[in-house]
Amino acid sequence: MPGYKQACRFCGQLVDENSNVCPFCGRAHPLHAVCPNCVAPIQSGWTVCNTCGKPLVIPCPHCGAPVGPDTDVCEKCRTVIRYRCPACAAIVSAGAKRCDRCGAKLKDYWRSKGL
Ligand SMILES: [Zn+2]
Ligand SMILES: [Zn+2]
Ligand SMILES: [Zn+2]
Ligand SMILES: [Zn+2]
Repeated sequence: MPGYKQACRFCGQLVDENSNVCPFCGRAHPLHAVCPNCVAPIQSGWTVCNTCGKPLVIPCPHCGAPVGPDTDVCEKCRTVIRYRCPACAAIVSAGAKRCDRCGAKLKDYWRSKGL
């Protein structure tokens, strides 16, 4: 069904309202901020998820810069903080065969990342 289109939070392009990934800029969850741990909706400025209680802002393991819930690659040192399923934007652990959430196979994804 053709959904409404809304502006991506990151690049401003109009994307389908049920998009998990912006087709223009490739950022996850283009319309609504969500907790990277439990995918509950969050509001900008929150530092802890009110659903799972996990921190939404974590220090980069490489340089210590604060990394927010929408940042998958550290802006300072380019360390990858988290990988996301290209189909549903759920967090996946590096090298996982399938996405736990949607079951998408991730082999091509890791290959495209050079892993
Ligand atoms: Zn975008
Ligand atoms: Zn959460
Ligand atoms: Zn860093
Ligand atoms: Zn998935």
